[in-house]
Amino acid sequence: MPEHDVLIIGAGLAGQRAALAAAQSGVSVAIMSKVHPVRSHSVAAAGGINAAISVSDDWRSHAYDTVKGSDYLGDQDAIEAMCREAPGEVMHLEHIGVTFHRNDAGELDLRAFGGASINRTAYVADITGQAILHVLYEQLMRNASTVARYEEWFVTSLLIDDGGSCTGVVARHIRSGAMETFAAKSVILASGGAGQCFKPTTNALICTADGLAQALRAGAPLMDMEMIQYHPTTLLENGLLITEGARGEGAHLLNKDGERFMSKAAPNKMELASRDVVSRAEQIEINEGRGVGPDGQGVYLDITVVPRKRTLEALREIVNIGRDFAGVDITREPIIIRPGQHYIMGGVKTDIQGQTPIAGLYAAGEVACVSVHGGNRLGANSLLDTLIFGRRAGEDAAERARSTPMPACSDAQLRNDERMIAEIMARPRKGRRISELKNELGTTMNRYCAVFREADGLQSAYGTVKRLQEEAQNAYIDDRGTVFNQDVLGAIELGYMLETAEAIVLSAIDRKESRGAQFRTDFPERNDAEWLKHINVALGEDGSPEISYSPVTITQWRPEERTY
Ligand SMILES: Cc1cc2nc3c(=O)[nH]c(=O)nc-3n(C[C@H](O)[C@H](O)[C@H](O)COP(=O)(O)OP(=O)(O)OC[C@H]3O[C@@H](n4cnc5c(N)ncnc54)[C@H](O)[C@@H]3O)c2cc1C
Repeated sequence: MPEHDVLIIGAGLAGQRAALAAAQSGVSVAIMSKVHPVRSHSVAAAGGINAAISVSDDWRSHAYDTVKGSDYLGDQDAIEAMCREAPGEVMHLEHIGVTFHRNDAGELDLRAFGGASINRTAYVADITGQAILHVLYEQLMRNASTVARYEEWFVTSLLIDDGGSCTGVVARHIRSGAMETFAAKSVILASGGAGQCFKPTTNALICTADGLAQALRAGAPLMDMEMIQYHPTTLLENGLLITEGARGEGAHLLNKDGERFMSKAAPNKMELASRDVVSRAEQIEINEGRGVGPDGQGVYLDITVVPRKRTLEALREIVNIGRDFAGVDITREPIIIRPGQHYIMGGVKTDIQGQTPIAGLYAAGEVACVSVHGGNRLGANSLLDTLIFGRRAGEDAAERARSTPMPACSDAQLRNDERMIAEIMARPRKGRRISELKNELGTTMNRYCAVFREADGLQSAYGTVKRLQEEAQNAYIDDRGTVFNQDVLGAIELGYMLETAEAIVLSAIDRKESRGAQFRTDFPERNDAEWLKHINVALGEDGSPEISYSPVTITQWRPEERTY
């Protein structure tokens, strides 16, 4: 049985940053990923990473913008830590080789981003995630003697001992189908978000909520799950992301009458208000008949107002996306976009060291909820979150490992998971396919749990999720083999997504107010007296989800009315 001091699940930015931090603490580290590490969704991050680097900026300003962006649901101690440590983290990336864009004076260039009171987003054209992920991966290979890499291994369960501590994982080697138990003194979940619960989404096919459901099953609470971010600019046809960097560079949003409608919702910040505000403004234009495109379901993003030379240099990837996926030359004509599912602010509840309420289990990155994003994440704060809290979790997990003996794990869970996989493969080919159920889940969530929500729609989504959970028990797959059987993994992932979707919908039903990304048309006001609190979902004695509440940490910024 492989044994490691610190075992990290997920090799996106959070996982890789955690691995490097733990390795530097001198313990034995392993990092595991269901895809090759540089194919993690972090590679798709485009626009940049926030840090108060400019001489005219201050981390407190970044923290205030983040608190306001969160609609006062973010925990301010965590936000302060993230913003204070941001400039050092970006400098560290630069020193290990990330080629951030520089201005004519040779300084790090900073672009404008939504909800920020000053330009503070460092970037590498519109491939910032790719640039950082590849540099971190080089560093992992440089540390190959202390960091073991399990690439294309799929985690099926977390191991919890009788005392309630996490002691390792069970995983399946995707290439061979072999199952193995891994023992570890500390486990860090860095397994990313849940975008595939929605259709369409900007997220990769691998963002299937695995870590969220595994943590829930292991007894950990999920927090802020109702807070789902709809990004204002995704392609009407297929949900692909057009980076906020476009608006950062000056692009306009227009309705069918050519009006810059953001002047109504955010007269000061216009297109650079925070994402929840911009997405709502777009949806209102669409709902009230001022949209464009098929059935008026989109609005225009006009990038032609940005000088063509600048677009070709700083937004080159979306020039390609516009051409290849919408047949539009964005330097010459507007492109049709709409709000699309992008990010989950909620996740596995952790403290500011990434520790979950389960001893030995940490979480960092999109799977975690520290909570620095509260009701709404600012653009370019997620890459920052992955790195700051990835590092913190890596350091703390290594510290814990130094004073903890290697746990003894049995193979009981391994045998359970082997049986579960054999049972899926043995299902008769009748009834519905996994992919049909996944489609129904995604379109249901996107219909009822989107920019605007209300009680009846959410109840209907809940009913669908519960029915799909039943149907998933018998849904069938075609591939019965052992080598690269993605079909069977898809069936397991569907289970993760359905449990996570249930937590999302239950939390959205529970929060009877409008805050951040949760806008209830039946409760259109923010209600601090009753709802300035986090919603937590954990499994009760009988295995069904139960809701509880925890307070929001406020250090220096009292809730105020939020205008842009
Ligand atoms: C298109 C797009 C553009 C974005 N642009 C920006 C941006 O410009 N700035 C910004 O701040 N944020 C951006 N974001 C958000 C940000 O990129 C993500 O929130 C962040 O990269 C998530 O990183 P992560 O390390 O938490 O997870 P991921 O990068 O998603 O990595 C998850 C890892 O977990 C592994 N994993 C998952 N399940 C299992 C399992 N069962 N077994 C084994 N391994 C598993 C995966 O293989 C993967 O390695 C963007 C997101 C998208 C989708």
